Amino acid sequence: MIRLQGLYDGISQALQARQAPPPEVKALDETNRQRQAELTDLEAQVAAHKEELREVHKGEEEWRLELEHFQKQKGMVTNEREFTAVISEIDYATKELDTRKARREELDAAIRELGEDIESRQQARPEEESAQKEITEGWEHTKKDLKLKVHELAVDANALEEELSPKSRALFHRLLKSKKGIAIAGVVDGSCSVCHFKLRPHLMQRVRRCEEIITCEFCHRVLFREDAIPGTGDGDG
Ligand SMILES: [Zn+2]
Repeated sequence: MIRLQGLYDGISQALQARQAPPPEVKALDETNRQRQAELTDLEAQVAAHKEELREVHKGEEEWRLELEHFQKQKGMVTNEREFTAVISEIDYATKELDTRKARREELDAAIRELGEDIESRQQARPEEESAQKEITEGWEHTKKDLKLKVHELAVDANALEEELSPKSRALFHRLLKSKKGIAIAGVVDGSCSVCHFKLRPHLMQRVRRCEEIITCEFCHRVLFREDAIPGTGDGDG
């Protein structure tokens, strides 16, 4: 069981390591996430500008028609008063048209600039990309190794479990599941090394004898002698 616990410790460590990418991988993810957020923001700005541009175009078209209309009228006026009124309408329409033209040019320029910014951000940076690829591939490789390790440890654990009686095996797995992955506990200075509950003397003696499975009276983990060396083939003990 001691060897088995060692294998399960290894398995849980490897599984945990797989869940914990190294700092450079995390930093890379963060950088990419930030870069993507900035790009999304720029693209949203472009979309908003284009939306406004459509409105400006529409307004420009309307005021152009107004202007044409009044310019035609100018040729048909019959007195000074009508002439003054038409001129004033023409002035007004011209101003409106100019305002929209200026805004259209502003928006066109802004969209062009944003487009260039987006393009330069998206452009491949070969050096940076190969460095990123190295980090990503390194981590994928590590994860693959860890997966392989888990598999190997599980095979070893299965083999060891064959040596246990079905009852002991069931007990071990029950404890492993209910006791946060720690099914066994050493005895240190007469106490359980995990929960520190003091063993009664007769239990201590039975643990020393190694003839049966003794569990901690408080945390119920299987107890073993700290001086028992893992790997000496103590079977059920
Ligand atoms: Zn205990």
